[in-house]
Amino acid sequence: MNILVINAGSSSLKYQLFDMTTQEVRAKGLCERIGIDGKFKHEANGKKVTGDTPMATHADAIRHLTKMLLDEEYGVIKSMSEIDAVGHRVLHGGQKFSESVLVDEKVIAAIEECIPLGPLHNPANLMGIHACEEVMPGVPQVAVFDTAFHQSMPKSSYVYAIPYEYYEKYGVRRYGFHGTSHRYVSAKAIELLGGKAEGTKIITCHLGNGSSLAAVKDGKCFDTSMGLTPLEGVPMGTRSGSMDPAIVEFIANHDNLTPSETLTMLNKKSGVLGISGVSSDFRDLDEAAAAGNDRAQLALDIFAYNVKKYIGSYVAALGGADAIVFTAGVGENSAEMRAKITEGLEYLGIEIDQEKNAVRGTVDITGAGSKVKVFVIPTNEELVIASDTEEIVSALNK
Ligand code: ADP
Repeated sequence: MNILVINAGSSSLKYQLFDMTTQEVRAKGLCERIGIDGKFKHEANGKKVTGDTPMATHADAIRHLTKMLLDEEYGVIKSMSEIDAVGHRVLHGGQKFSESVLVDEKVIAAIEECIPLGPLHNPANLMGIHACEEVMPGVPQVAVFDTAFHQSMPKSSYVYAIPYEYYEKYGVRRYGFHGTSHRYVSAKAIELLGGKAEGTKIITCHLGNGSSLAAVKDGKCFDTSMGLTPLEGVPMGTRSGSMDPAIVEFIANHDNLTPSETLTMLNKKSGVLGISGVSSDFRDLDEAAAAGNDRAQLALDIFAYNVKKYIGSYVAALGGADAIVFTAGVGENSAEMRAKITEGLEYLGIEIDQEKNAVRGTVDITGAGSKVKVFVIPTNEELVIASDTEEIVSALNK
C-alpha cells in the first residue's frame, strides 16, 4: 500500500510517500510560500530537485506534488491510482479525538470546531484535507492528531487550578502536543523493556525546536508538559515555556502591548532565543557558548535545568521510572545536552554511560550502575501517520 503523508501549514506543505510493505519513504518534499509565489523541494530515486512554481492555494501545492510523484525522472508512481490513501497531521483534536480517524464530513466539522484551540494550525490542516479532496477525489483520508495520545491523562493531570467553569464552558485544560512522537518513542521503549506495556513507567523527552515531556504509564499518557497550547512546559527555541502568568500584564503595561502582542513575544521571541539574543537553534548556541558567549551558555543551562526538573517531577508523578527516552533534534543529536540534563540524577537511579552517549546512533546509553534505562530513540511521526492510515484503510477494505 502506498500512503501519502501530508503535514500542511498555513503557507507550506510537507509530504512523504510511504511504501508500507517495506515502510520505506519512496519520495518526499516540501512546498513553500503557498499563496505568495511558490517554491518546492522534492527528493526521490536518489535525486533532489528544487525550483519555483506558482502555488496560489494548497490545492495547487497538492497538484504540484502529484506531478512530481508522476514525473519521469523524479517520480515513483505511474498513475494516481497508486496512491491508496492520504494521512494528515492535524494539530488539535480537542477532547473529540483520542485516536486517528477516517476523514468524513463529521470529522471535518469536528476539526473545525477545534479551530479556537488551534487557530493557526487547524485551518491549515483543513486546507490540506480539502486540497486532497479536490485533487484526488475518492482517495480515503485519515487524520492523525498531535493531541490524541494525551487524551488518556487523568483529570488531575489536565485540569488547571482556575475556576472550573472555564474547563466546562470553553474546554480550557491541558491537551498536550507532540503526541504522535511521544506515542512512537514510548512504544519503542516498551519493546526494549521486554514488550509488555502494563506496569511500565516511561518519561519521554521530545527536545527539538519545540520541546515537551510526557510521563507514560502502562503505555498510556499520564501527564505532559505542554498545555492548552504548545506554549507551556520547558523553555523552547522561541517559546518561553511555563512562567508566572502575571508577567503577561506586567510587560503589556510597561511596553504598551496588547495581550495578543505579548503572547506573540512569548511564542516567537522568548525561549533560548530570548535569553541568549543569539539564536533559537541549539547548534548556534553551542557554538556561541563555546566561543565564550555567557548568555548563550545561560540559555543552554536554563533549558537543561528545566528539563531536569520535569524529569524529577515525572519520576514523582509515576512513582519511579523504568526508562527515560530522548528524542527529536536536540534529544537525538546533542550528547552534551543529554549529559547535562541527566547530571546529578544518580540519586534517582538515573545514570548514563558517557562513552555510549558520545557515540551517535547508540540507542541504549544506560550507565553501568543505573536502575533506570536511558534510551535515545529517533522519532518518526510520519511513519506513525502512515501506519495509522494503513490500519484504518485496510479495515475499510475488509
Ligand atoms: P522541529 O521541532 O522543528 O521538528 P527538530 O526536532 O528538528 O525540530 O529539532 C531542531 C533543533 O535540533 C534545532 O535547534 C537544532 O539546532 C537541534 N539540533 C540538531 N542537531 C543538533 C546537534 N548535533 N547538536 C545540538 N543541537 C542539534
